Amino acid sequence: MIELRHGENGVMHQSFSGDVYNSAVYLKRCFDNVECSIVTAVGQDALSDEMLNTFHKADLNTELVFKHPTKHAGLYIIKIDDKGERSFTYWRSDAAARTIVNFLNDDVLSKFKSGDMFFFSGISLAVIEPEARPLFWQKLEQLKQAGVILVFDPNYRARMWHSEADSKEAFNRAFGLAQIALPGIEDLEQLYGLHTGIDVIKFCQSFDIEEVIVKDGPNAVLSLANNQIEKHEITPCENVVDTTSAGDAFNGVYLGARINEYSIAKSIALAAQAANITVQHPGAIAPKQAFMSDMSALLNT
Ligand code: ADP
Repeated sequence: MIELRHGENGVMHQSFSGDVYNSAVYLKRCFDNVECSIVTAVGQDALSDEMLNTFHKADLNTELVFKHPTKHAGLYIIKIDDKGERSFTYWRSDAAARTIVNFLNDDVLSKFKSGDMFFFSGISLAVIEPEARPLFWQKLEQLKQAGVILVFDPNYRARMWHSEADSKEAFNRAFGLAQIALPGIEDLEQLYGLHTGIDVIKFCQSFDIEEVIVKDGPNAVLSLANNQIEKHEITPCENVVDTTSAGDAFNGVYLGARINEYSIAKSIALAAQAANITVQHPGAIAPKQAFMSDMSALLNT
């Protein structure tokens, strides 16, 4: 999406953001050897072109970014009040990205190969037009059959859904298809009344998910794989500036590490470090140089 942020003296800063995009940026920064493509739809306007340029600059493959003939990219404005509280206003009900499923024909799906990962989130699900969701499930089934690994982060945003029942139905379907799930406790607390990491793990065990990683802000991360639950301590950040995108940075780096066949423990350590750096900078994407210099020691061990 196009992001606008109020700055000093009435100046408005413009950038681009979105949970899947943020994850892709962090993945690619840490694991340049991984080919990473964005799947979305933009418009044919100047800002959409800039968005594409931004994807290119982050070394993301844009072959699967489609250009809708009449719609535009979605937009939101962040306002920060005197106390530092952020509020968001969105213009996305007619965004091009909502039509993405229509672009996923067999030719497009054939580009995914066995062993590739396809990452989608609860925000992706909410963005897709409700009437296109059944077709999206079909496409995911098709990818899964082709050996593509489906990865789901519920990233629940209540106001993006018509009703809780709607979101639960979609999430149950997504958990049912995913081989890797990356839930945060907070998301599932709101929707399913789950309060602890173990509650979330048990919930996930009712589906056929191979790998579950449960995030809980500054608290330990839990993993479930091969029927083993493990607790991974992380270092809480003492200088939190902005938690936007902590989970996105975590997801991107975790998946990049797993694609590179790092162990779950090492992948979580790298992901937690990436998220720790991210919360020390304002906005979704931390400056590259500062991020890489804080990441490099752990990446090189
Ligand atoms: P989400 O953004 O999906 O809600 P969380 O808030 O649980 O996810 O955070 C995701 C990850 O970011 C955590 O697992 C942790 O690694 C890191 N993180 C978040 N907040 C902090 C913090 N205050 N200190 C250190 N790490 C943090």
